Amino acid sequence: MQQNKPKYHPICLQLSGLEPLIADEKSNFINVGERTNVAGSKKFLRLVKEEKFAEALDIARHQVDGGAQILDVNMDDGLIDGKTAMVKFLNLIASEPDIARIPIMIDSSKWEILEAGLQVVQGKSVVNSISLKGGEEEFIRQARLIKRYGAAVIVMAFDEVGQADTYDRRIEIAERSYRILVDEVGFPAEDIIFDLNIFPVATGMEEHRRNAIDFIEATRWVRTHLPYASVSGGVSNVSFSFRGNDTVREAMHSVFLYHAINAGMNMGIVNPTMLEVYDEIPKELLELVEDVMLDRRDDATERLLDYSDKHKSTKKEKTEDLSWRTLPLQERINYALVKGVDRFIEEDMEAARLVAKKPLEVIEINLMTGMGIVGDLFESGKMFLPQVVKSARVMKKAVAYLQPFIEAEKDATKKSNGKVLMATVKGDVHDIGKNIVAVVLGCNNYDIVDLGVMVPAEKIIQTAIEEKVDVIGLSGLITPSLDEMVYVASELDRLNLNFPLMIGGATTSKAHTAVKIAPKYKNTVIHVTDASRSVNVVSSLLNKEKSAEYCAEIKRDYDEFREKFLGRKVAKEYVTIEEAREQKFKIDWNNTEIIKPKKLGITIIENQDLNALVPFIDWTPFFQSWDLHGKFPKILEDETVGEEAKNLYNDAQKMLKKILDEKLLTAKAVFGLFPANSDEQDDISVMNEEGEELAKFRTLRQQAKRSAGKSYFAISDFIAPKSTGKTDYIGAFCVTTGFGTEELAKAYEAQNDDYSSIMVKAIADRLVEAFAEFLHKEIRTKYWGYAEDEALENNDLIAEKYQGIRPAPGYPACPDHLEKLTIWDLLKVEENIGVYLTESLAMFPTAAVSGYYFANPEAKYFGVGKIDEDQLQDYATRKGVDIDYARKWLMPNLAD
Ligand code: SAH
Repeated sequence: MQQNKPKYHPICLQLSGLEPLIADEKSNFINVGERTNVAGSKKFLRLVKEEKFAEALDIARHQVDGGAQILDVNMDDGLIDGKTAMVKFLNLIASEPDIARIPIMIDSSKWEILEAGLQVVQGKSVVNSISLKGGEEEFIRQARLIKRYGAAVIVMAFDEVGQADTYDRRIEIAERSYRILVDEVGFPAEDIIFDLNIFPVATGMEEHRRNAIDFIEATRWVRTHLPYASVSGGVSNVSFSFRGNDTVREAMHSVFLYHAINAGMNMGIVNPTMLEVYDEIPKELLELVEDVMLDRRDDATERLLDYSDKHKSTKKEKTEDLSWRTLPLQERINYALVKGVDRFIEEDMEAARLVAKKPLEVIEINLMTGMGIVGDLFESGKMFLPQVVKSARVMKKAVAYLQPFIEAEKDATKKSNGKVLMATVKGDVHDIGKNIVAVVLGCNNYDIVDLGVMVPAEKIIQTAIEEKVDVIGLSGLITPSLDEMVYVASELDRLNLNFPLMIGGATTSKAHTAVKIAPKYKNTVIHVTDASRSVNVVSSLLNKEKSAEYCAEIKRDYDEFREKFLGRKVAKEYVTIEEAREQKFKIDWNNTEIIKPKKLGITIIENQDLNALVPFIDWTPFFQSWDLHGKFPKILEDETVGEEAKNLYNDAQKMLKKILDEKLLTAKAVFGLFPANSDEQDDISVMNEEGEELAKFRTLRQQAKRSAGKSYFAISDFIAPKSTGKTDYIGAFCVTTGFGTEELAKAYEAQNDDYSSIMVKAIADRLVEAFAEFLHKEIRTKYWGYAEDEALENNDLIAEKYQGIRPAPGYPACPDHLEKLTIWDLLKVEENIGVYLTESLAMFPTAAVSGYYFANPEAKYFGVGKIDEDQLQDYATRKGVDIDYARKWLMPNLAD
């Protein structure tokens, strides 16, 4: 029997996972992956905290796939049980052969975590780290144990005095540690790895000038004087003072590594994406960086800073990478679609057309292959909505280019996955969400028939029949649209049609869909909130084999939901409206100072400078409208969506600048401040200075039973009752930044640029909210002047830290949309600034906000919630309308 002879290796560091890692003369620099470090990766920290270990493992796998040769695992965080997490994660890794392939670096500042890790890790690992910081005795004890567990060790250049920060201190500590380990502990010299501390250079401090060169020289010393020991370090630290200039940082990292590796550094933590190829660093920059690294000139730092300042903004152009243009045609098309680059698409379409059998093939084969990749990436969460919309723009341009060639051919019919009709229902004008869904479906090869906004049921149904669509998608943002959707459903039912119905938009909900719409229509009705889900829903609806089962499942789910919902509702308990009024929210009017507005009556702002509104923009909802969730500005740094959020934000800034520079939108406002008193019936009487009544605002009062001692609110509680004998004041307003939006959006659509069209609308929405915020501040500090000395930052404004509120009709504190009519009458809104109300009482232009102003310091937002029939009847009588008519305009209108 022949014995396998062990291979000969000279003495050198040898680690292993399932496979060996040998650091001999021939091996290259060993890269340690550190994304599985809770201190280094926010995402990893979050996953561990939430115990999402499967996803945490994906990060490890990603590191291995990306070329990491050792995996650093660190669980040191105050909110984590580090020992348990370490053991659990290492055990999980051990059962994933593709990860467990490489050795583990068990990283912690706590000995008990290190030891717990050593007890479960498989293969030969590295402990990170020990040092003389806590004295020789502890150092020896830990080293002995590590030796017994059979691991290698990182020794930090740290002792009882502190961290080594000079050449002399580095070699002093390294030598002392080495001697103790080798002579006293008997630690294998080849299992010792020194971390000699990489500190930043070019900080402007004299004592930091030699930070890099001292590390490099100390490395050389260790590698020649301490046989078999290795040297490691975390490289990105060296360029810390050039944060924000990646060109310079990347050059610094490669220069540093080049010299440190030459001196013998054989291991380290390096982010491969932050590394320039040494030979490709421009000559001038290379010299400046080497001057700094090697401390060659007194003015080295200044010169590098100068260079950095000059070259900051040029990095983009300089590094625009067009190498993809040399790829084969299909790959170029894929690239253009995935990256959303439309610059070369016509050129590539022409090339594809020339080799295709028919022009249609270019769409069906070349473009669909690319869009398939986009779809997969989106599905798996690797692409985000704004990117997909950009891909769609490329797709549309490509199709537009091919169209004339396709039409020139006879009977060329494109195969599509199906046809979807999309419409914003009658009375409603909001379409950002609908347009996004249409674009996403479009790029998944569905034909879209987009009927736009304010589409009556008759037109929807007629078109659906004529166009033989497969699915109808209805969208709406304001509450009355919910009723309109119910109407569309009942019409479909009456006509015995069987188009599946998708419901979407901001006020829609599963509850409303299940409780109100589904019972009216015998076919499938399904609520779809986000664009990314729409593809799945439509493809399930249209899948020949599965559709029946899918629809049955939805029906079961909605039936069950409805029963539960209705069951729950019965349990609601009300107090009578009389009791609620008795326990109204009581303000001590005797001790309330009422401030008379400086300027009473109506004021019109004809043309507000948009530039003044920019500082008042709240960007968080902007990202939401693109399905990117998170608070601004933190979202820009988010591990998952940060990069895409940044791209989107940059595009938004460009569009905003264009809008401002070219004055593409016009902002107008009208507001009024008036004497006012409330009465016993929850109405607010609005007067002129002579005391004549100009209008009556009707308000609704909370009625759902509250715990003892709690008040039942109506917004009229915030205005002094007539019975106090005091005159109080109220305001009303309407602002818009919407004039110009439609024209601009249409112009982009005509260029097949849905991305920019949606962007324009999203920005107009942000500007009008900013205008509302801006004007409210002007009211508080100037026109009314009850808070003249207010000094609040935009964040405080967003958090509503000011005195007073501006509730909007159709929102929870004043849920009746009809009240907008009163505001329109009082302020002559349409005559004064041209904003009008649609038949569903949506404002047009869409980018418009209206509401009341209340100044009382105790005024706050609340929700009226459900009310009983008595109050509704009382309310309808006060308004002089029929009870069912009144009910129709209430938000939420599940009230019955
Ligand atoms: N900064 C945000 C503004 C959010 S909207 C943005 O830019 O989008 C906030 C407004 O909604 C309030 O000013 C008020 O007009 C309305 N609102 C909020 N809660 C309300 C409630 N309970 N009742 C009535 N209106 C309300």
